[in-house]
Amino acid sequence: MFALDLIIKKRNGMKLTMEEINFFVDGYTKGEIPDYQASAFLMAVFFNGMDTDETLWLTEAMLHSGDIVDLSCIPGIKVDKHSTGGVGDKTTLVIAPIVASCGVPVAKMSGRGLGHTGGTIDKLESIPGFRTSLSREEFVTNVKEIGIAVAGQTENLVPADKKMYALRDVTGTVENLSLIAASIMSKKLASGSDAIVLDVKVGSGAFMKTIGEAEKLARLMVDIGRGAGRKTVALITDMDRPLGNNIGNALEVSEAVDILNGKGPDDLREVCLELAANMLFVAGKGDIESCRRLAAGAIEKRTALKKLVEMVIRQGGDPKAIEDTAELPKARFKAEWKAETAGYIEKMHAEKLGYASLILGAGRKNKDDVIDHSAGIELVKKPSDKVERGETLAFLHTSDENRIPEALSVLETAVSISSIPVQAQPLILGRIE
Ligand code: URA
Repeated sequence: MFALDLIIKKRNGMKLTMEEINFFVDGYTKGEIPDYQASAFLMAVFFNGMDTDETLWLTEAMLHSGDIVDLSCIPGIKVDKHSTGGVGDKTTLVIAPIVASCGVPVAKMSGRGLGHTGGTIDKLESIPGFRTSLSREEFVTNVKEIGIAVAGQTENLVPADKKMYALRDVTGTVENLSLIAASIMSKKLASGSDAIVLDVKVGSGAFMKTIGEAEKLARLMVDIGRGAGRKTVALITDMDRPLGNNIGNALEVSEAVDILNGKGPDDLREVCLELAANMLFVAGKGDIESCRRLAAGAIEKRTALKKLVEMVIRQGGDPKAIEDTAELPKARFKAEWKAETAGYIEKMHAEKLGYASLILGAGRKNKDDVIDHSAGIELVKKPSDKVERGETLAFLHTSDENRIPEALSVLETAVSISSIPVQAQPLILGRIE
Protein backbone atom coordinates (compact mmCIF):
# COMPACT_ATOMS: atom_id res chain seq x y z
CA MET A 1 0.00 0.00 0.00
CA PHE A 2 1.22 3.53 -0.77
CA ALA A 3 0.13 6.81 0.85
CA LEU A 4 -0.15 8.34 -2.63
CA ASP A 5 -2.85 5.80 -3.62
CA LEU A 6 -4.94 6.74 -0.57
CA ILE A 7 -4.58 10.45 -1.29
CA ILE A 8 -5.73 9.93 -4.90
CA LYS A 9 -8.61 7.67 -3.84
CA LYS A 10 -9.93 10.21 -1.35
CA ARG A 11 -9.25 13.10 -3.73
CA ASN A 12 -11.51 11.28 -6.23
CA GLY A 13 -14.28 11.05 -3.62
CA MET A 14 -14.06 7.29 -3.02
CA LYS A 15 -14.61 5.40 0.21
CA LEU A 16 -11.49 4.10 1.99
CA THR A 17 -11.27 0.66 3.59
CA MET A 18 -10.45 0.00 7.24
CA GLU A 19 -7.02 -1.35 6.22
CA GLU A 20 -6.24 1.80 4.25
CA ILE A 21 -7.21 4.07 7.16
CA ASN A 22 -5.13 1.95 9.58
CA PHE A 23 -2.21 2.18 7.16
CA PHE A 24 -2.43 5.98 7.07
CA VAL A 25 -2.81 6.50 10.84
CA ASP A 26 -0.10 4.00 11.71
CA GLY A 27 2.30 5.28 9.05
CA TYR A 28 1.83 8.92 9.96
CA THR A 29 2.15 8.31 13.72
CA LYS A 30 5.41 6.39 13.21
CA GLY A 31 6.81 9.09 10.92
CA GLU A 32 6.80 6.79 7.86
CA ILE A 33 4.32 9.03 6.02
CA PRO A 34 5.69 12.59 5.74
CA ASP A 35 3.77 15.76 6.70
CA TYR A 36 3.31 16.81 3.05
CA GLN A 37 1.46 13.60 2.17
CA ALA A 38 -0.54 13.65 5.42
CA SER A 39 -1.51 17.28 4.67
CA ALA A 40 -2.74 16.35 1.19
CA PHE A 41 -4.66 13.41 2.64
CA LEU A 42 -6.33 15.56 5.31
CA MET A 43 -7.26 18.19 2.73
CA ALA A 44 -8.83 15.48 0.52
CA VAL A 45 -10.84 14.32 3.56
CA PHE A 46 -11.75 17.92 4.32
CA PHE A 47 -13.27 18.41 0.86
CA ASN A 48 -14.71 14.96 0.17
CA GLY A 49 -15.62 13.91 3.70
CA MET A 50 -15.79 10.47 5.26
CA ASP A 51 -18.91 8.40 5.81
CA THR A 52 -19.85 6.93 9.20
CA ASP A 53 -17.90 3.67 8.60
CA GLU A 54 -14.73 5.54 7.64
CA THR A 55 -15.11 7.85 10.65
CA LEU A 56 -15.48 4.86 12.97
CA TRP A 57 -12.40 3.20 11.48
CA LEU A 58 -10.43 6.43 11.79
CA THR A 59 -11.47 6.76 15.45
CA GLU A 60 -10.49 3.14 16.16
CA ALA A 61 -7.14 3.49 14.39
CA MET A 62 -6.34 6.68 16.35
CA LEU A 63 -7.52 5.15 19.64
CA HIS A 64 -5.10 2.23 19.21
CA SER A 65 -2.13 4.45 18.32
CA GLY A 66 -1.15 4.74 22.00
CA ASP A 67 -2.02 3.75 25.57
CA ILE A 68 -5.56 3.10 26.74
CA VAL A 69 -6.28 3.96 30.36
CA ASP A 70 -7.66 1.04 32.36
CA LEU A 71 -10.10 2.21 35.03
CA SER A 72 -11.59 -1.22 35.66
CA CYS A 73 -10.11 -1.38 39.18
CA ILE A 74 -12.41 1.51 40.19
CA PRO A 75 -15.89 0.34 41.18
CA GLY A 76 -18.94 2.01 39.63
CA ILE A 77 -19.72 3.60 36.29
CA LYS A 78 -16.98 6.11 35.54
CA VAL A 79 -18.18 9.15 33.61
CA ASP A 80 -16.28 11.56 31.40
CA LYS A 81 -17.36 14.81 29.81
CA HIS A 82 -16.08 16.75 26.85
CA SER A 83 -16.81 20.22 25.53
CA THR A 84 -15.96 21.09 21.95
CA GLY A 85 -14.59 24.35 23.36
CA GLY A 86 -15.83 27.85 23.87
CA VAL A 87 -15.21 31.23 25.44
CA GLY A 88 -15.69 31.35 29.22
CA ASP A 89 -16.42 27.62 29.27
CA LYS A 90 -15.42 26.65 32.81
CA THR A 91 -18.09 23.97 33.17
CA THR A 92 -15.67 21.13 34.04
CA LEU A 93 -14.61 22.98 37.21
CA VAL A 94 -18.22 22.99 38.37
CA ILE A 95 -19.58 19.74 36.97
CA ALA A 96 -16.82 17.30 37.86
CA PRO A 97 -17.13 18.06 41.64
CA ILE A 98 -20.95 17.98 41.47
CA VAL A 99 -20.98 14.55 39.83
CA ALA A 100 -18.22 13.13 42.05
CA SER A 101 -19.99 14.40 45.18
CA CYS A 102 -23.07 12.44 44.08
CA GLY A 103 -21.01 9.24 44.20
CA VAL A 104 -20.15 8.90 40.48
CA PRO A 105 -16.39 8.64 39.80
CA VAL A 106 -15.05 11.27 37.42
CA ALA A 107 -11.75 10.56 35.65
CA LYS A 108 -11.19 13.54 33.40
CA MET A 109 -8.25 14.20 31.15
CA SER A 110 -8.31 17.71 29.76
CA GLY A 111 -6.33 19.83 27.35
CA ARG A 112 -4.71 23.24 27.28
CA GLY A 113 -6.16 26.07 25.30
CA LEU A 114 -4.90 27.17 21.92
CA GLY A 115 -6.36 30.16 20.13
CA HIS A 116 -9.31 31.97 21.64
CA THR A 117 -10.65 29.12 23.79
CA GLY A 118 -8.98 28.47 27.15
CA GLY A 119 -8.28 24.94 28.36
CA THR A 120 -9.34 23.45 31.70
CA ILE A 121 -5.74 22.61 32.54
CA ASP A 122 -4.67 26.25 32.23
CA LYS A 123 -7.58 27.30 34.43
CA LEU A 124 -6.71 24.77 37.14
CA GLU A 125 -3.07 25.87 37.06
CA SER A 126 -4.13 29.31 38.24
CA ILE A 127 -4.74 27.69 41.65
CA PRO A 128 -1.36 28.08 43.44
CA GLY A 129 0.48 24.75 43.62
CA PHE A 130 -2.13 22.74 41.66
CA ARG A 131 -0.53 19.86 39.73
CA THR A 132 -2.19 18.84 36.46
CA SER A 133 0.56 16.47 35.45
CA LEU A 134 -0.24 13.21 37.24
CA SER A 135 1.25 9.79 36.62
CA ARG A 136 -1.17 7.14 35.41
CA GLU A 137 -1.05 5.49 38.86
CA GLU A 138 -1.74 8.71 40.74
CA PHE A 139 -4.63 9.58 38.42
CA VAL A 140 -6.28 6.19 38.93
CA THR A 141 -5.58 6.17 42.70
CA ASN A 142 -7.17 9.60 43.15
CA VAL A 143 -10.33 8.57 41.31
CA LYS A 144 -10.45 5.37 43.36
CA GLU A 145 -9.93 7.11 46.70
CA ILE A 146 -11.72 10.45 46.39
CA GLY A 147 -13.87 9.88 43.28
CA ILE A 148 -12.29 12.61 41.17
CA ALA A 149 -9.17 13.57 39.21
CA VAL A 150 -8.76 16.20 36.51
CA ALA A 151 -5.38 16.06 34.82
CA GLY A 152 -3.57 16.76 31.55
CA GLN A 153 -3.47 14.05 28.94
CA THR A 154 -0.57 11.68 29.41
CA GLU A 155 2.15 11.77 26.74
CA ASN A 156 1.16 8.57 24.99
CA LEU A 157 -2.63 9.08 24.96
CA VAL A 158 -3.63 9.00 21.28
CA PRO A 159 -0.28 10.13 19.81
CA ALA A 160 -1.92 9.99 16.35
CA ASP A 161 -4.20 12.84 17.40
CA LYS A 162 -1.33 14.92 18.77
CA LYS A 163 0.42 14.79 15.38
CA MET A 164 -2.71 15.07 13.26
CA TYR A 165 -4.24 17.91 15.27
CA ALA A 166 -1.02 19.94 15.12
CA LEU A 167 -0.92 19.42 11.34
CA ARG A 168 -4.62 20.25 10.90
CA ASP A 169 -4.10 23.42 12.90
CA VAL A 170 -1.59 24.73 10.33
CA THR A 171 -3.15 23.33 7.13
CA GLY A 172 -6.71 24.68 7.42
CA THR A 173 -8.21 21.25 8.01
CA VAL A 174 -9.60 21.53 11.54
CA GLU A 175 -13.27 22.20 10.72
CA ASN A 176 -14.30 18.84 9.30
CA LEU A 177 -16.95 16.78 11.09
CA SER A 178 -15.24 13.39 10.70
CA LEU A 179 -11.82 14.71 11.69
CA ILE A 180 -13.23 16.51 14.74
CA ALA A 181 -15.37 13.53 15.79
CA ALA A 182 -12.50 11.05 15.47
CA SER A 183 -10.09 13.39 17.27
CA ILE A 184 -12.43 13.93 20.24
CA MET A 185 -13.83 10.42 20.50
CA SER A 186 -10.48 8.63 20.18
CA LYS A 187 -9.29 10.59 23.24
CA LYS A 188 -12.51 10.00 25.16
CA LEU A 189 -12.42 6.26 24.46
CA ALA A 190 -8.71 6.06 25.36
CA SER A 191 -9.40 7.79 28.69
CA GLY A 192 -11.22 4.67 29.85
CA SER A 193 -14.56 5.93 31.22
CA ASP A 194 -17.73 3.86 30.82
CA ALA A 195 -20.06 6.71 29.87
CA ILE A 196 -19.55 10.05 28.17
CA VAL A 197 -21.44 13.35 28.06
CA LEU A 198 -20.56 15.66 25.18
CA ASP A 199 -21.19 19.39 25.16
CA VAL A 200 -21.27 20.44 21.52
CA LYS A 201 -21.03 24.21 21.34
CA VAL A 202 -22.59 26.19 18.52
CA GLY A 203 -22.19 29.87 17.60
CA SER A 204 -19.59 32.53 16.90
CA GLY A 205 -17.23 31.31 19.65
CA ALA A 206 -17.36 27.63 18.59
CA PHE A 207 -16.03 25.44 15.75
CA MET A 208 -19.62 24.69 14.75
CA LYS A 209 -21.26 27.88 13.54
CA THR A 210 -24.74 26.50 12.75
CA ILE A 211 -27.15 24.31 14.66
CA GLY A 212 -27.34 21.90 11.68
CA GLU A 213 -23.56 21.29 11.77
CA ALA A 214 -23.60 20.94 15.57
CA GLU A 215 -26.39 18.34 15.39
CA LYS A 216 -24.50 16.33 12.78
CA LEU A 217 -21.31 16.37 14.87
CA ALA A 218 -23.24 15.45 18.02
CA ARG A 219 -25.02 12.55 16.27
CA LEU A 220 -21.76 11.25 14.81
CA MET A 221 -19.97 11.31 18.18
CA VAL A 222 -22.91 9.67 19.98
CA ASP A 223 -22.89 6.91 17.32
CA ILE A 224 -19.13 6.41 17.75
CA GLY A 225 -19.49 6.25 21.55
CA ARG A 226 -22.35 3.80 21.36
CA GLY A 227 -20.51 1.72 18.74
CA ALA A 228 -17.64 1.42 21.23
CA GLY A 229 -20.00 0.25 23.97
CA ARG A 230 -20.08 3.51 25.97
CA LYS A 231 -23.32 5.14 26.98
CA THR A 232 -23.07 8.55 25.30
CA VAL A 233 -25.30 11.62 25.39
CA ALA A 234 -24.66 14.96 23.68
CA LEU A 235 -26.09 18.35 24.54
CA ILE A 236 -25.95 21.19 22.05
CA THR A 237 -25.38 24.46 23.86
CA ASP A 238 -25.09 28.08 22.82
CA MET A 239 -21.67 29.64 22.24
CA ASP A 240 -22.79 32.77 20.42
CA ARG A 241 -22.12 34.63 23.66
CA PRO A 242 -19.54 33.77 26.32
CA LEU A 243 -20.68 31.42 29.07
CA GLY A 244 -20.85 33.18 32.44
CA ASN A 245 -19.36 36.62 33.03
CA ASN A 246 -15.66 35.85 33.38
CA ILE A 247 -13.15 34.96 30.66
CA GLY A 248 -9.57 34.13 31.68
CA ASN A 249 -8.07 31.52 33.91
CA ALA A 250 -8.14 32.70 37.56
CA LEU A 251 -11.28 34.73 36.83
CA GLU A 252 -13.01 31.58 35.59
CA VAL A 253 -11.94 29.52 38.61
CA SER A 254 -13.37 32.25 40.82
CA GLU A 255 -16.69 32.19 38.94
CA ALA A 256 -16.87 28.38 39.07
CA VAL A 257 -16.38 28.55 42.86
CA ASP A 258 -19.18 31.16 43.03
CA ILE A 259 -21.55 28.67 41.35
CA LEU A 260 -20.57 25.95 43.83
CA ASN A 261 -21.29 28.48 46.59
CA GLY A 262 -24.85 28.92 45.28
CA LYS A 263 -24.02 32.27 43.63
CA GLY A 264 -22.69 33.26 40.19
CA PRO A 265 -24.39 33.92 36.86
CA ASP A 266 -27.62 32.12 35.89
CA ASP A 267 -26.50 31.08 32.38
CA LEU A 268 -23.45 29.25 33.72
CA ARG A 269 -25.49 27.58 36.47
CA GLU A 270 -28.12 26.42 33.96
CA VAL A 271 -25.63 24.81 31.56
CA CYS A 272 -23.62 23.23 34.41
CA LEU A 273 -26.69 21.73 36.07
CA GLU A 274 -27.93 20.28 32.79
CA LEU A 275 -24.55 18.75 31.93
CA ALA A 276 -24.11 17.39 35.46
CA ALA A 277 -27.64 15.94 35.43
CA ASN A 278 -26.84 14.17 32.15
CA MET A 279 -23.61 12.76 33.58
CA LEU A 280 -25.55 11.39 36.55
CA PHE A 281 -28.15 10.04 34.11
CA VAL A 282 -25.63 8.10 31.99
CA ALA A 283 -24.17 6.76 35.26
CA GLY A 284 -27.58 5.27 36.05
CA LYS A 285 -28.52 7.58 38.94
CA GLY A 286 -32.17 7.77 37.86
CA ASP A 287 -34.31 9.58 35.32
CA ILE A 288 -33.18 12.97 34.10
CA GLU A 289 -35.53 14.87 36.45
CA SER A 290 -34.21 13.16 39.58
CA CYS A 291 -30.65 13.65 38.30
CA ARG A 292 -31.35 17.40 37.95
CA ARG A 293 -32.47 17.46 41.60
CA LEU A 294 -29.38 15.53 42.70
CA ALA A 295 -27.09 18.00 40.90
CA ALA A 296 -28.88 21.04 42.35
CA GLY A 297 -28.73 19.44 45.83
CA ALA A 298 -24.93 19.05 45.58
CA ILE A 299 -24.68 22.82 45.17
CA GLU A 300 -27.25 23.66 47.87
CA LYS A 301 -25.62 21.37 50.44
CA ARG A 302 -22.10 22.54 49.39
CA THR A 303 -21.01 18.90 48.98
CA ALA A 304 -19.71 19.71 45.48
CA LEU A 305 -17.65 22.62 46.84
CA LYS A 306 -16.15 20.31 49.47
CA LYS A 307 -15.31 17.82 46.70
CA LEU A 308 -13.49 20.52 44.72
CA VAL A 309 -11.47 21.46 47.82
CA GLU A 310 -10.63 17.77 48.33
CA MET A 311 -9.41 17.47 44.74
CA VAL A 312 -7.37 20.66 44.99
CA ILE A 313 -5.64 19.43 48.17
CA ARG A 314 -5.01 15.99 46.64
CA GLN A 315 -3.41 17.55 43.56
CA GLY A 316 -1.13 19.83 45.59
CA GLY A 317 -3.12 23.05 45.27
CA ASP A 318 -3.73 25.62 47.98
CA PRO A 319 -7.31 25.15 49.28
CA LYS A 320 -7.28 28.75 50.58
CA ALA A 321 -7.63 29.89 46.95
CA ILE A 322 -10.98 28.07 46.77
CA GLU A 323 -12.16 28.96 50.26
CA ASP A 324 -11.42 32.62 49.53
CA THR A 325 -11.04 33.36 45.81
CA ALA A 326 -9.32 36.68 46.63
CA GLU A 327 -6.26 34.42 47.11
CA LEU A 328 -6.20 33.57 43.37
CA PRO A 329 -3.71 35.47 41.17
CA LYS A 330 -4.75 39.11 40.71
CA ALA A 331 -3.86 41.32 37.75
CA ARG A 332 -1.86 44.50 38.36
CA PHE A 333 -3.98 46.57 36.00
CA LYS A 334 -7.73 46.88 35.63
CA ALA A 335 -9.36 48.97 32.89
CA GLU A 336 -12.96 49.65 31.91
CA TRP A 337 -14.69 49.01 28.60
CA LYS A 338 -17.56 51.46 28.27
CA ALA A 339 -20.64 51.54 26.06
CA GLU A 340 -20.49 54.11 23.27
CA THR A 341 -24.27 54.23 22.84
CA ALA A 342 -27.33 53.56 24.99
CA GLY A 343 -29.74 50.70 24.22
CA TYR A 344 -30.02 46.94 24.58
CA ILE A 345 -27.13 44.57 23.95
CA GLU A 346 -28.02 42.58 20.86
CA LYS A 347 -24.82 40.59 20.44
CA MET A 348 -21.50 40.05 22.16
CA HIS A 349 -19.32 38.21 19.69
CA ALA A 350 -17.83 35.35 21.71
CA GLU A 351 -14.79 34.73 19.50
CA LYS A 352 -13.78 38.40 19.57
CA LEU A 353 -14.15 38.51 23.36
CA GLY A 354 -11.97 35.40 23.53
CA TYR A 355 -9.40 37.06 21.29
CA ALA A 356 -9.39 40.25 23.39
CA SER A 357 -8.83 38.13 26.47
CA LEU A 358 -5.92 36.38 24.72
CA ILE A 359 -4.38 39.79 23.92
CA LEU A 360 -4.61 40.67 27.63
CA GLY A 361 -2.48 37.56 28.33
CA ALA A 362 -5.10 34.91 29.16
CA GLY A 363 -4.41 32.70 26.13
CA ARG A 364 -1.72 31.60 23.71
CA LYS A 365 -1.10 32.69 20.15
CA ASN A 366 1.57 30.00 19.88
CA LYS A 367 1.83 26.66 21.62
CA ASP A 368 4.76 27.72 23.81
CA ASP A 369 3.46 31.15 24.91
CA VAL A 370 3.33 31.65 28.69
CA ILE A 371 -0.11 32.43 30.10
CA ASP A 372 -0.84 35.26 32.52
CA HIS A 373 -3.27 33.45 34.84
CA SER A 374 -4.62 36.69 36.26
CA ALA A 375 -5.53 38.19 32.87
CA GLY A 376 -8.96 38.27 31.27
CA ILE A 377 -12.30 39.99 31.00
CA GLU A 378 -15.04 40.37 33.59
CA LEU A 379 -18.30 41.17 31.81
CA VAL A 380 -20.70 43.47 33.61
CA LYS A 381 -23.29 43.40 30.83
CA LYS A 382 -24.48 40.48 28.69
CA PRO A 383 -26.75 40.13 25.65
CA SER A 384 -30.32 41.46 26.18
CA ASP A 385 -29.17 43.73 29.09
CA LYS A 386 -30.07 47.44 28.98
CA VAL A 387 -27.12 49.80 28.93
CA GLU A 388 -26.63 53.57 29.19
CA ARG A 389 -24.06 55.50 27.17
CA GLY A 390 -20.74 55.51 29.08
CA GLU A 391 -21.80 52.64 31.33
CA THR A 392 -19.24 49.89 32.02
CA LEU A 393 -19.64 46.83 29.80
CA ALA A 394 -16.66 44.97 31.25
CA PHE A 395 -13.47 45.20 33.29
CA LEU A 396 -10.21 44.21 31.62
CA HIS A 397 -7.56 42.52 33.78
CA THR A 398 -3.91 42.28 32.78
CA SER A 399 -0.38 42.39 34.15
CA ASP A 400 0.80 44.31 31.09
CA GLU A 401 -0.81 47.75 30.77
CA ASN A 402 0.45 48.11 27.17
CA ARG A 403 -1.96 45.40 26.01
CA ILE A 404 -5.09 47.31 27.02
CA PRO A 405 -5.51 49.59 23.95
CA GLU A 406 -5.32 46.68 21.47
CA ALA A 407 -7.77 44.61 23.54
CA LEU A 408 -10.17 47.57 23.69
CA SER A 409 -10.01 48.06 19.94
CA VAL A 410 -11.00 44.38 19.43
CA LEU A 411 -13.80 44.72 22.00
CA GLU A 412 -15.24 47.76 20.23
CA THR A 413 -16.04 45.52 17.23
CA ALA A 414 -17.44 42.76 19.46
CA VAL A 415 -20.68 44.36 20.60
CA SER A 416 -23.82 45.55 18.86
CA ILE A 417 -26.37 47.64 20.71
CA SER A 418 -29.99 47.90 19.56
CA SER A 419 -32.45 50.69 20.29
CA ILE A 420 -35.25 48.17 20.91
CA PRO A 421 -35.37 45.49 23.65
CA VAL A 422 -33.65 42.21 22.79
CA GLN A 423 -35.04 38.80 23.78
CA ALA A 424 -32.66 36.47 25.70
CA GLN A 425 -31.83 33.37 23.59
CA PRO A 426 -32.09 29.80 24.96
CA LEU A 427 -28.86 28.17 26.12
CA ILE A 428 -29.64 24.48 25.70
CA LEU A 429 -30.43 23.95 22.05
CA GLY A 430 -30.70 20.19 21.77
CA ARG A 431 -30.01 16.77 23.28
CA ILE A 432 -28.98 13.65 21.40
CA GLU A 433 -29.10 10.31 23.14
N1 URA B 1 -11.24 19.37 19.86
C1 URA B 1 -10.49 18.27 19.63
O1 URA B 1 -10.03 17.61 20.56
N2 URA B 1 -10.27 17.91 18.36
C2 URA B 1 -10.75 18.59 17.30
O2 URA B 1 -10.53 18.20 16.18
C3 URA B 1 -11.53 19.74 17.56
C4 URA B 1 -11.77 20.10 18.87
